[in-house]
Amino acid sequence: MMDRAQAGSSVLVLGSGVSGLTAAYELSRAGHAVTVIDDYDQPGGNHLSCNIGAYTFDIGAIFFWSNSLMLDVFPSATATWEPIECTTGRVTPARTVRSYPFDLKREFGNLPLPRKLAILGDVAWHRLTHFRKRSVEDFVVRRLGQRLYRESGLDIYIRRFCGLPPERVTYTFAERRMQWLRQKTSVSDVARGVFRRFTRKARAPALQGFARPRQGFPHMYDQAKRQLEAAGVRFSLGAGLTSITRDGGGFAVTGATGTWRGDRLISTIPLAMTARLAGIDDIAPPRSMMMTTLFCRFRGTPGFPYTVLYNFHRDGVWKRLTMHSNYYGQVGGDAYFSVECTQPDEAQSPEALFEDFRASTESFGLFAGELELVGHLETEFAYPVLDEESARNREVMLQRTEQMGIESLGRQGAFDYIPHSSMAIGLARKALAAAAGRGR
Ligand SMILES: Cc1cc2nc3c(=O)[nH]c(=O)nc-3n(C[C@H](O)[C@H](O)[C@H](O)COP(=O)(O)OP(=O)(O)OC[C@H]3O[C@@H](n4cnc5c(N)ncnc54)[C@H](O)[C@@H]3O)c2cc1C
Repeated sequence: MMDRAQAGSSVLVLGSGVSGLTAAYELSRAGHAVTVIDDYDQPGGNHLSCNIGAYTFDIGAIFFWSNSLMLDVFPSATATWEPIECTTGRVTPARTVRSYPFDLKREFGNLPLPRKLAILGDVAWHRLTHFRKRSVEDFVVRRLGQRLYRESGLDIYIRRFCGLPPERVTYTFAERRMQWLRQKTSVSDVARGVFRRFTRKARAPALQGFARPRQGFPHMYDQAKRQLEAAGVRFSLGAGLTSITRDGGGFAVTGATGTWRGDRLISTIPLAMTARLAGIDDIAPPRSMMMTTLFCRFRGTPGFPYTVLYNFHRDGVWKRLTMHSNYYGQVGGDAYFSVECTQPDEAQSPEALFEDFRASTESFGLFAGELELVGHLETEFAYPVLDEESARNREVMLQRTEQMGIESLGRQGAFDYIPHSSMAIGLARKALAAAAGRGR
C-alpha cells in the first residue's frame, strides 16, 4: 500500500512558527510529503520563552482564547495551556492607569458637561467632514475626532507601536488590522450597547483566556511537533540555512546540516531572509523594527491591578508589559514580568532601556519597591514598519520570490502584521486553499 504522505508532491516548509506548522499540518493531510526546516532549534517561531533561574519569561504578551483555531489544528499542544483571567490596562497621558482600550465610564462619563459636549461635537464634526484616507491617522480621527485621539494617548501609542508618526503609517494597515476600532465606534454598535443597557439584555459570555504552559513554549510546541511527526512530517531544526536554489522543476535548500530537495517551497521565515538566501540582492528589503524585551523581577506591591499594561504616555520607550507572575504565581515572594521596547531608530542598550523604564514607571507610580533587570532578549524583524516605501518594497520582494516559485506566508514570510496565532492559522489556511485552487 502506498504511504499516504508520498501520494502527493514533496514540500519544503521554511520556518516552524505557527504559520509553518499550519502549512505542514494542512499539506500532510492533503497527502504531500512535508519537511519543516528552521534555523531555530525549537518549533514555535517567535512564540519564544526564556528561562532565567526560576523564572520563565516570554517576548510579547502572548495569550490564547477559547475560540482559537489552534484548538482545531493542534489539540495536543493546546492541552498544555493554563486557563487564566487576563486583564488589560493602560497608562494614560494623565499618568493614571485605566482599562484598555478605553474606560468610557471613568474617562468620559465623569467629565464636566461642557467638555463632554465639546468632545461629542468634535466626534460628530469629524464623522461628517473627515474623508481623507492617506494614513492610519485619517482612519482614527474620522472615528474618534481629534480630541479623543490625542487625549486618550492613542496617537502616542501608534507611534510607539508602528515606529513612525501615525500620519506616515499606511491607511491600508488600519483597514486591515484596526477593524476593532471601526466596530467599537460604529453607530450600530453604540446603539446596541445603549439598547442592552435599557433592556438589561445579557452580553454574550466572555471568551476564556489561556497562557502557555508554565514550563515555557517548547513544552507546548513539542506536542505539536510530535503530532505532525506521527502524521509523517519530518523536521530539520537548527539548520543554519545558507541558500535556496532552483533544482530542476523543484527547489534545493542548503544549510549547515544538509541539503533538502522538494517540488514545492513554502517560506514563513522573514521575507528579507528568504530573498537573501535566494540570491535576490538588488532590491531593498521592507523595513522592520527590532525589539528588546527586558526581563524584570520586582519585590513590592505593583500600583496597578492588570496582567498586561500598555504605555499610552509620552514618557518611556517601553510599549507594553506582561506580569507573568499574576498567573503563574510569584517566585520566592518576587513578581516577574517582561517589558517590550520597540526601537525604530538607534538601538539602545538593555541597561539604558531599563533605566528609562524605571524612571517612567516611578513617575507613574507603578513599581515602588525593589526592581531589577535579570535578563533581556533582542528580536530582529519584530514588527513590520508600514510606511508607503516599505509597502512598495514588500510588493516588489514578494513578486520576485514568487517569480522564483517560492510561496511566502505568515507574519514574517509575507511581511504582514499578524497579531496573534489564531489569525496566523486562518491566513495560512486561506493562502494554501487559494494555491490548491490554482492547482498546486
Ligand atoms: C514582537 C512580537 C509580538 C507578538 N505578540 C503576539 C501576541 O501578543 N499574541 C500572539 O498570539 N502572538 C504574538 N506574536 C506571534 C505572532 O504574531 C503570531 O502569533 C505567530 O507567531 C506568527 O507565526 P509565524 O509562523 O507567521 O511567524 P514567526 O513565528 O514570527 O516566525 C516564523 C519563523 O521565522 C523565522 N524568524 C522569525 N524571526 C526571526 C529572526 N528575528 N531571525 C531569524 N529568523 C527569524 C524563524 O525561523 C521562525 O520559526 C508576536 C510575535 C512577535 C515577533
